[in-house]
Amino acid sequence: MGWDSINHARGTLAEAHSVHKTLLEDEANLTPKTVHAVALEVSEMLIRARDALSSAYDERAELLNEIRKLSAALEKRADITKHLDAYYLSTGNSTPTGEPYCLRCWEVDWCLVHLTRRSNDTNCCPHCDRQYRADMTPFDPDGDRTNE
Ligand SMILES: [Zn+2]
Repeated sequence: MGWDSINHARGTLAEAHSVHKTLLEDEANLTPKTVHAVALEVSEMLIRARDALSSAYDERAELLNEIRKLSAALEKRADITKHLDAYYLSTGNSTPTGEPYCLRCWEVDWCLVHLTRRSNDTNCCPHCDRQYRADMTPFDPDGDRTNE
C-alpha cells in the first residue's frame, strides 16, 4: 500500500521523460505524424502517473486515518480493563465499571463498541454482530445495579 503507487508513478514519469528526451533529440528526423504519436504516448504516460499519484494520495489518507485511530486507542488503553468476555471502563485500579464493550472490536479493530442486549441470555455487538453470553458480559460488572 502506498509505495506501489508511488513507485508506479515514479517509473511512469521516468519513462515519459526518456521518451520526451528522445523526441527532442530526434525531432528533426521525425515526420510530424510520428512526433504527434510520440507526444500522444507521453501524454498517456503522464495520465497514468497522475492516476498512480492520486491512488497514493488516497492510500496516504487511509494510513493517516489508521494512525489517528490507533493513537486514540493507545490513549484510551489505560482507561480500559478486560473483565470476563468484555472490556469496560476502569475506575483506576482495573475495576470494571459501566457497560460492556465488544471484545472482538477492541482486540481486532481497536474501537470501542458498546454491546446491546439481544435477549436475556445474549448480548451482541451492533458493529461486528458477534454474540456473547450475557452472564459473561454483564451490564453492571461492579454490582451497583442489577443486570436487567
Ligand atoms: Zn464488535
